[in-house]
Order: sequence, then structure tokens, then C-alpha cells
Amino acid sequence: MSSAISQSVAAQKTFFIETWGCQMNDLDTQRMSGHLKLRGYRRVNDESSADLILLNTCSIREKSEHKMFTRLGYLRELKQQKGIRIGVCGCVAQQEGEAILSRAPFVDFVIGPGNVGHLDSVLDGDTRVAVDFPQDRRYDYLSLDRSSAVRAQVTIIEGCNKNCTFCIVPTTRGREVSRPFDDILCEVEHAISTGRGEIELLGQTVNAYTCPSSGRDFADLLRNVAGLAGVHRLRFITSHPAEVTSGMIGAIRDHDNISRFLHLPVQSGSSSVLRRMKRLYTRERYLEIVAEIRREVPDVLFSTDIIVGFPGETEKDFAETLSLLEEVRFGSFFAFKYSPRPGTAAPRIGSPVDDAIASERLVRLFALQESIEQETLRNYLGTTQEVLYEGPSRHDEAMSSGKSDHNWTVNFSVPARPEVGTMVQVLIREVRHHSLRGEAVT
Ligand code: SAM
Repeated sequence: MSSAISQSVAAQKTFFIETWGCQMNDLDTQRMSGHLKLRGYRRVNDESSADLILLNTCSIREKSEHKMFTRLGYLRELKQQKGIRIGVCGCVAQQEGEAILSRAPFVDFVIGPGNVGHLDSVLDGDTRVAVDFPQDRRYDYLSLDRSSAVRAQVTIIEGCNKNCTFCIVPTTRGREVSRPFDDILCEVEHAISTGRGEIELLGQTVNAYTCPSSGRDFADLLRNVAGLAGVHRLRFITSHPAEVTSGMIGAIRDHDNISRFLHLPVQSGSSSVLRRMKRLYTRERYLEIVAEIRREVPDVLFSTDIIVGFPGETEKDFAETLSLLEEVRFGSFFAFKYSPRPGTAAPRIGSPVDDAIASERLVRLFALQESIEQETLRNYLGTTQEVLYEGPSRHDEAMSSGKSDHNWTVNFSVPARPEVGTMVQVLIREVRHHSLRGEAVT
């Protein structure tokens, strides 16, 4: 590096972002990072060398909030040593707003998810707390600092209109706002032009998408995005069971490049719990939806989210969750102990489940899923899977690594490393704990 360039790099302001939570938070980080780079900042991986530190927080469970205040305690010391700026972003920012400044006055600004496109207002000091939901969301995909060279996440709908009684998302991310259909297609085309052949459409209830001007729905969008040249694999997350339509299933069936991995959160296997959660479907309806999808798309693999210890959950309710797992045979899942959230209805509609009981249920749930997952993984032995090559394996440099259509990490040997982003056919030879191993075949 010439000395003039190294001096200008040294003079450049730096930022560090820490991200917790869901894919939407990940994408918000990519948006803020891209915007800061446009303003001349350089991203660093070490917070002690940053001039600006952003905590992009999650409030889905209480633990994440505690974690944030603990982190702020540490950053306060860093701020005392050197004059850094600290911004709290994400869902805890939205939920707590001004209260963060009362508890941690050394924080420079607080900005919620609805204001990610208005980062300048807090950076420039026009406001210290930006937690409204502006009409104009300013979504500048051209400046996105994409986190993956092979995959592009594309928001299609923000917010959530469901009122699940356990969930804080409608408070922290506001009402549903779908992006215009053509904007989404332009962003996907742009992502393809940068070499990203895997597209992941994002929304809290991604399948509630409706174009604000034309009324075109999620099925239309799937068909149009899947039809674009260069889209090798199309994923989307998170689908709500009550929004699954025959049009959406038909679009998946008709397009081989739409992933056969479907995340469909069920939350509980008990209709009584589902009613109190206001999930808008029963156990029977959920199983019907799964059966309908399997009829049309036989090679689909489902994953799900489960909450244990929801207020009033009995041992019988929990047994129904276990039996639902046995019946559907999800490839993978996320399971959480219920955590009461401010302003939600759940704490008022059932008596709390003893923490030790909820913990014990969670352990049983994981044990059952572990055995189902191992059995699922064994089914791939001897099959050939299409793998999107992402780079050397993290644990074994000699192996190459990528994701299969069913979202498994596949580590494989190959005589000559392909270009990152290439689809490779891999013969599966071995099953590991949560991954597969094999060798590339021509
Ligand atoms: N919008 C999606 C939906 O409705 O399925 C996902 C929302 S959230 C980001 C992801 C998961 O967190 C939920 O599916 C749920 O299982 C879990 N979750 C949400 N609120 C929770 C709470 N209060 N306690 C425990 N888990 C919770």
C-alpha cells in the first residue's frame, strides 16, 4: 500500500456492527453497513478499533435484552477510554426507545427497524431516538453491503399483521408493508448481475406478500422471480401456515429452482394451545397443509419453530407437540422456551408453566428431534445432491463446503476447486452430526 493510501485508510472513520436475531436483522445490518460505507466509513471486525459501534438487537426473547444491556455496560468503559459513538438499533431499540437513554445515557442514538433507511437522521444528530414507522421506508438496495458472495437476501414485505399472543414482532416491526413487485424484480436482477444465483425472499409473514399497486400476490412473485435467468435457487422465509395457498404450492411445484426446503413454523402440536396463541390454524389444519404440499411437491423437506411452556401448556398439550414431530418428521427445527414479552396478551391467558418443567420439555423435544434428524440425514446416503459451493470447509481446509437444496451443509472432496457460487453434484457418502459428506461427481 502506498503511504498516501495507508494514511487515508488510517484517517478513515471506522464502524463495527454486532447483529443478533433473525434474517431481517441480518439484512438491516447489510443495509446500514452499505450506507455507512457510502458515507466514507470502513467496516472493522474489532470493536476496539471502531469509531462507531452499532448493536443491532433482537427482542424476541427476554434473554436478548439482558444481553444488550450487559454489552452496553462493557461498551461504556470503552467509550470512557476513547471517544466512540454508540448506536442501539433493531427490535430492542424499537421496543424500549427513550428508556434506553434513561438507563444508558452514554448511548448516542437509538434507531428502530422502520428507520434503517433514515440512518442519516441519527448520524447527523437531527434526532437521537428514531422509532416511528415512516411512510417512506427508503430501501436502497444498490448500496447493500451483502454478507454473502453467492446468496442475496431480498426483503419483500416488512412488519406483521398477525397478532400471535406471544409475539412482539408487530410492535417492533409495525404493520405489514409490501414492496412494489417491480422493485423486487429489479433488486433480484441486480443481485444476479453481481454473481449471486441464490435468492432468499424475506418477510415475517413472507407469503402474505401483496403488491401495493397491482395486488399481485406471493404466488405471482414466486413465479416471476423463479423465471428470471440466473436464479439458480429461490428460497423464502418465513411462511405462515394460514397464508399458504394452492397458488403458492403450484408455483413451487412448477419451478425446479424453487427450493424444496420449507420453513413452516407450527409453534405447538396442540389445537388448544394454538387457539390461545391465535395462530389461526388447528393441529388438523396444519397437518392438512403439510399433506397438500407433499402431494404436489413430494420431495419437500419441512422445518419448523416450536415454543414450549406457553402459558397453560399441559403435559397432554406437550405430548401432542411430540406426536406432531413424529408425524411430520421435520428435517430440522428451532425450539424455544416461552418468554413473556411486554404488551403481549399471552401472560394474561394462561397460568405460567414452571421453568423447570419447561426446561425438561425442551430437553425431551430436542432428544426426539435429534433422532428424527439423524434418520432424515441417513436417507441421503448414496444419493446425489446439488450443492451451492461457498468455499473451503471451516473445519477442514481440504474439503469444499456448501448448502444442499434441503439446506444441509455438505462438505465434499473435489479434484479441482470450482468457482464460488457454482452448483456441484455431490454423491453423499457419510452422515455427520448436522451435516453430510461426500465427493463431487461430474
Ligand atoms: N414471523 C414468524 C412466524 O410467525 O412464524 C417468525 C417470528 S420470530 C422472529 C421466530 C420464532 O421465535 C417464532 O416462530 C417463535 O417460535 C419464536 N418466538 C417468538 N416469540 C417468542 C416468545 N415470546 N417466546 C419464545 N419464543 C418466541
